[in-house]
Amino acid sequence: MNDFVKCVVCGEYDFKISHKCAPCWKATSKYNSENEYNKIFSSDYKEAAEKYVAFIEQLKAEFSVLDGDSLEVQIEPLNGGEKKTFIVTGELVPNYTAKEKK
Ligand SMILES: [Zn+2]
Repeated sequence: MNDFVKCVVCGEYDFKISHKCAPCWKATSKYNSENEYNKIFSSDYKEAAEKYVAFIEQLKAEFSVLDGDSLEVQIEPLNGGEKKTFIVTGELVPNYTAKEKK
């Protein structure tokens, strides 16, 4: 059996038999209180910062970064290591879909 499933640990969709979770990161910003952080699974620092902002904006149901603001984010490996700071910005990409009317 090699089912395509959602990993219960990292939330990614992948083949059950070959899946390995991406590294886990501690992500914080002004929205986290002291000693509180969000766990983000990602292959590197930069992607962790982007995933964190997508997550936090959805959680707050407030999309100020997509509206043009920026957010300062701190990322460090879950099991210790260098802490890096990123300024994350975003943009809404307009998307149009046409369907032929029959
Ligand atoms: Zn996983």
